Amino acid sequence: MLIDMHLHERTHSPDSMISLEEIVTVAKARGLDAVCITDHDSMGLTQYAAEYAKQVDFPIFVGVEFYSLQGDVTAWGIDSFPDHRVDAQDFIDHVNHHGGFCVSCHPFRNNNRGLEDDLKRVHGLHGVEVLNGSTSLEANRKALQYCQELGLKPIGASDAHVYEKIAKYVTWLPEQVFTQADLIAQLHACNPKPAIWNGLSYDIVDTF
Ligand SMILES: [Zn+2]
Repeated sequence: MLIDMHLHERTHSPDSMISLEEIVTVAKARGLDAVCITDHDSMGLTQYAAEYAKQVDFPIFVGVEFYSLQGDVTAWGIDSFPDHRVDAQDFIDHVNHHGGFCVSCHPFRNNNRGLEDDLKRVHGLHGVEVLNGSTSLEANRKALQYCQELGLKPIGASDAHVYEKIAKYVTWLPEQVFTQADLIAQLHACNPKPAIWNGLSYDIVDTF
């Protein structure tokens, strides 16, 4: 299956221009199987996303993009998170305590919101966003290099805040999932691969 694992919806991400309806429309048109909403320090869309997913018969999973003291970490499988910035390690421990899955997103993006070399300090991360749609190719390549060195799972995601970027990069998983619990179980069990929209379909890649 193909899934965009990092998207911002405008209701709870003030810097996003896009609605859930627009996200699902593009995702369906491109043949994706699911999307994740990871708003900034908010899981406020959870209930509406569940209702809308049922209405349009399309899986929508709500995680969070948490702004730790060292940078952003996306996570799934938690019901709550600290209401203030904490050390990335404390947040990662929280996710693991609840059996969730967490990813260092855009670790080397030039906005001071990536973990950068703290990637090598923290323990318990599961994946690294090696293709982020709002990050330069050079910074994405550096993320891939760290991901491989650390033996973590490579994740692709658009991090879209505007319509044009929705589903630019996505993640390939071997099995279709319909629930967030199954998504997390599969992410833990499999070797995901990033994928790149080429204008007609997705190229699933090991390197880029
Ligand atoms: Zn983001």
